[in-house]
Amino acid sequence: MIIDFLGGCREIGREAFLIKDKNTNIVLDYGVELQPRIRIPSLPTVKLDGIFVTHAHLDHSGMVPLIYKMQNPNLYATPAILDLMNLLLEDYIKVAGLNRGFSEYQKYDITKMNKSFVPCVYNQLFRVGNLEAKLFDASHIPGSASVYLSGSKRILYTGDINTIPTYLLGYKEIKYPKIDCLITESTYSEREHLDRKIEENRFIEKIKEYENGLILLPTFAVGRAQELLLMLYSHGIKKEIYLDGMGQKAADIILYHKNYIRDSDGLKKVLKRVNFVRTRRQRDKIIREGGIVITTAGMLSGGPIVYYLKNSRNRKNTCLLMTGYQAQGTPGEKLLKTRYFENEETKFKVNLEIQKFDFSAHAGRSELFNLIKRLSPKKVICVHGDNTIKFAEEIKEKLNIETLAPKIGDRVEV
Ligand SMILES: [Zn+2]
Repeated sequence: MIIDFLGGCREIGREAFLIKDKNTNIVLDYGVELQPRIRIPSLPTVKLDGIFVTHAHLDHSGMVPLIYKMQNPNLYATPAILDLMNLLLEDYIKVAGLNRGFSEYQKYDITKMNKSFVPCVYNQLFRVGNLEAKLFDASHIPGSASVYLSGSKRILYTGDINTIPTYLLGYKEIKYPKIDCLITESTYSEREHLDRKIEENRFIEKIKEYENGLILLPTFAVGRAQELLLMLYSHGIKKEIYLDGMGQKAADIILYHKNYIRDSDGLKKVLKRVNFVRTRRQRDKIIREGGIVITTAGMLSGGPIVYYLKNSRNRKNTCLLMTGYQAQGTPGEKLLKTRYFENEETKFKVNLEIQKFDFSAHAGRSELFNLIKRLSPKKVICVHGDNTIKFAEEIKEKLNIETLAPKIGDRVEV
């Protein structure tokens, strides 16, 4: 079995791996790096039998339609992921058009992709070419999966994975098959998560502190927005909640695929009392009167949050609570460091209380080590992280397993 690393190595973004075994060619994820600039993976130069998409986030799915410009392999994912992907891919075309005047693919490429979709169910073995495959729940966002492939060797690719329950997703320990090689994400390989319950209490206290004010919650549309809604709901927060941007449609899709989530009734109830925001007039009214605003983009790279920030940057009794990962070079990361918001068009000081919370949907350092111990593969390949080389060394030292931190363009035989 040969693995070509097309992207997502020694970096977070543009995941893409080509697996070649027993005359079968499979791509695992085909993402795009958005920040600080758009970068795409190398193109697979062989005819593909299938593409697996572990989840809808664009760093894993963003360039899948590009493949369909050239060829027509089957697309394997859960139905929830296909719908969430469509939402994010169409938005990608729109934003790329606005920012750069072009997108690498168009709507008809997405249509072509959708026609090649083969819906997958967790824990069911199926064939792709001469290989066998199975998806396992990765508990990262609704419908997300880890991919198991068995041919001359047996491998598992974690995708983005979480191993603790959240409000949105339950977690059950998974019985994985025996594997020879693990390709693992490494997002939090250098950091332990802060205690989730303590973080949650700190967050709710802040929400209560600004009871009569304006609370801005920038968030990713898929997963985190719904997690925050459920968290606020479960703490009985009575203050008006506004949902703005793509999180609205994502919530509808997630509710439609309710089997993937822990408490669909809860999500339905909270969505009933949430106010959906669509116009500038509504936004101005909220800025005047206050409330809790859950809106995109999570790293402040665009979307309604920029309008809210700009127009409430000197507002009294207002806070900005950031709950997501802030990639290097994004406006969100810069704001945390400098208290200035800056993008291509504008720069201004933000005179609000700014707090950061850790509600990650990724396994932390200990959880990653525990997962590797439990799977006990012969080889671990570390991808999707800022310091995969160090992580690979640590795994080797602590667990005595052969490891690798490939770079893009490497070919590895397992
Ligand atoms: Zn993700």
